Amino acid sequence: MKLRNLRVRLLMSLLLLCSITPAMGERGPDVPDYPAEEVAPGVYVIHGPLGVPSVENLGFINNPAFVVGETGIVVIDPGSSIQIGEMVLRQIRQVSDLPVVAVFNTHIHGDHWFANQAFKELYANVPIFGHEEMMKMVKQGEGEAFLETLMRMTDGAVKGTVEVPPAETAAHGDELKLGGIAFRILYEPKAHSHSDIMIELPKHKVVFLGDNVMRDRFGRMDSGTFSGNIAAIDMALATDAEIFVPGHGHTGGREVPEAYRKYLSTIRSEVEKYFDEGLSDFEMKPKIVESLAQFQQWVDFEQNIGRHINLAYLEVEAAMF
Ligand SMILES: [Zn+2]
Repeated sequence: MKLRNLRVRLLMSLLLLCSITPAMGERGPDVPDYPAEEVAPGVYVIHGPLGVPSVENLGFINNPAFVVGETGIVVIDPGSSIQIGEMVLRQIRQVSDLPVVAVFNTHIHGDHWFANQAFKELYANVPIFGHEEMMKMVKQGEGEAFLETLMRMTDGAVKGTVEVPPAETAAHGDELKLGGIAFRILYEPKAHSHSDIMIELPKHKVVFLGDNVMRDRFGRMDSGTFSGNIAAIDMALATDAEIFVPGHGHTGGREVPEAYRKYLSTIRSEVEKYFDEGLSDFEMKPKIVESLAQFQQWVDFEQNIGRHINLAYLEVEAAMF
């Protein structure tokens, strides 16, 4: 009788295990290797594909970066999933065996920071830095909402990812030394997402712009302002930096922030001009599209332009009262 009970119990346990194991072990596929490009001595950027998260890109769309210092490595915006974080770690290991001593997150949008998980799993005590506005937004559920969207857009490719938000604050003017590398934090309140820090490496003459600047594609302007974003770009251009790393698109010189600034300021000033003439956003759209001819080659121009004109219109209208 006892033996029979034991068998039943064993069978039950086995059945339970079978029903749990697939769910626990289920995760999206590994992300293939993307090369890390050395954009300045010891400064590497993995330029992700342009566009929005998809089944094809497995959610990888941003520019994870790492800086190799004398005593450690600092990672900036590791990407949008645990799988991408692991891919970034593989690229780091091709260059250095030093430990990762810190991670920076430029802002609240999850395509930049859900890969924190991979670094926290390997280095339990690694400090993760972000602006306090970002931490507030995480508490309000913005990270979770972004993760759900990412799951849907990639058809579950990011499965296995959980949010590991920053716990260390980085504020405007902060100067930090991490892994033997000097960092300076720049922050403009109402830029791309209200939570955007830019990270300057004064000695390397590099600025990580976060999503305050993109190259050959458009930013989400829903939670930022055109005027704040322009002010943030001016702040970055006022540094001594020679290398500018955008949140999306390829790294380059001053022309990278200047081009994005031109896009934002053209929309802002054109909307203002036609607003003064009494045109609605619908009426001014074709005229503004004409003046934005040089940006029509950017990815998803058609999908973004109407929304951006509308947002700039609301901003100009609000500034009038
Ligand atoms: Zn963003």
